Amino acid sequence: MGSAAASRLSAEAARAEETRGAAPGGRLANWAGNYEYGVDRVHHARSLEEVREFVQAHGRMKVLGTRHCFNGIADSDHNLLSLTRMADVVALDPKARTVTLEAGVSYGQLCPYLHEKGFALHNLASLPHISVAGACATATHGSGVGNPNLASSVSGLEIVTAAGEVLQLSREKDGRQFRGAVVHLGALGVVTKVSLDIEPTYDMRQYVYLDLPMPELRDHFEDVVSAGYSVSLFTDWQKERVNEVWIKRRVEPGTSRDAEADFFGARLADRNVHPIVELSAEHCTEQMGVTGPWYERLPHFRMGFTPSSGKELQSEYFVHRRDAVEAILAIERLRDHVSPHLMISELRTVAADELWMSTCYGRDSLAIHFTWEQDWPSVRKLLPMIEKELSPFGGRPHWGKLFTMAPAALQSRYERRDDFKQLARQLDPEGTFRNRFLDSTLYG
Ligand SMILES: Cc1cc2nc3c(=O)[nH]c(=O)nc-3n(C[C@H](O)[C@H](O)[C@H](O)COP(=O)(O)OP(=O)(O)OC[C@H]3O[C@@H](n4cnc5c(N)ncnc54)[C@H](O)[C@@H]3O)c2cc1C
Repeated sequence: MGSAAASRLSAEAARAEETRGAAPGGRLANWAGNYEYGVDRVHHARSLEEVREFVQAHGRMKVLGTRHCFNGIADSDHNLLSLTRMADVVALDPKARTVTLEAGVSYGQLCPYLHEKGFALHNLASLPHISVAGACATATHGSGVGNPNLASSVSGLEIVTAAGEVLQLSREKDGRQFRGAVVHLGALGVVTKVSLDIEPTYDMRQYVYLDLPMPELRDHFEDVVSAGYSVSLFTDWQKERVNEVWIKRRVEPGTSRDAEADFFGARLADRNVHPIVELSAEHCTEQMGVTGPWYERLPHFRMGFTPSSGKELQSEYFVHRRDAVEAILAIERLRDHVSPHLMISELRTVAADELWMSTCYGRDSLAIHFTWEQDWPSVRKLLPMIEKELSPFGGRPHWGKLFTMAPAALQSRYERRDDFKQLARQLDPEGTFRNRFLDSTLYG
């Protein structure tokens, strides 16, 4: 990995992460507060050496990122290790166009640093408060027909394996093993450094349209989702319409405002809006075509605003983009079941990648997302209906969100699952990094 001088990022966000997240009973919980971890005590490593020592001393453990998953993927009944105190940029290589980070860095810390140095990432998720390592581990994504998920930017990894050995993997040199290791679900070891592709920084403008008729989406799906660098559709599945279309465009030199008043029957919003139109847009990224840097337009929520915890649940399923319209109509038919428990749904496109356990492995995808009211008994009854409807399209659930799919069905959606399990056996023969989530999904 790179060798340039290390650069200290703001430690404030990392410290904040460490202190948040106790459930009402005082137990350590995830960001949404819907999942309590099996142990309360988190060990904070400060160096590669400390990580190695911790792994060698503990037979069963998991790494906690920023705790933004809604399920038990990061959980351990034994030991939890956090890398939030390892949060520096290790090297920025302008020639190779890569940045190398310690694994505790979040996008919120990284993006302003990159922009200041004249660089950018290709895409971001809906909010910036998540760790780069934890996001890539679960194939976290943004939107855009030409944009693969965030893990696709990874060009190198440093992993401490169960034996305490330090493994360096690069896209260039370790093709096969690398493609297996990037979306690793926390199953292969402790990622201590990540290298990412970067590109020259760019500006963006964001526009929101209201009330896109569903028949227009059905007839012009590809045109709608290709109308910008990144397009998100928000719907409550009611009234045969998409409530909001968020279009994020890269600003090419010399271009001015580039939004028509009408977009397939939807009208241009005349103020900033929240994805749920009734809520205040105070914490949303700037819209109305105001030019700004990429990292202040690609997420829907602002960097400076750190949500404490969100009383919500999330689920998301990925289908082949060629089946997008059929899949959307299938969910629309469930609207009377879905809507009473839904805060909002989001539809995004993600380009295909080659990462074995990625939700977009081998297929250009549509991601159908649900933000639910925090009522798990009701949501748990609904998810099998959604999964059944999306089954003909080979729906793959987001690894970090809530799903109920049977292990055999889940595994059948991943062509490279056996290769991945073999890689896990090789790097972690005793199951140091296995947990109940992995046992029930990958090995169930
Ligand atoms: C409000 C909200 C908005 C979201 N928006 C999006 C979105 O727009 N798009 C999307 O795709 N997802 C989204 N998510 C889901 C989120 O991006 C993923 O769940 C992501 O994995 C969270 O990263 P984390 O660091 O918080 O993960 P954690 O839950 O802390 O960990 C996730 C996994 O990564 C492993 N891990 C973390 N760090 C390391 C490490 N250093 N070494 C080894 N293993 C590690 C953990 O063991 C675990 O298996 C959202 C979640 C929330 C709460």
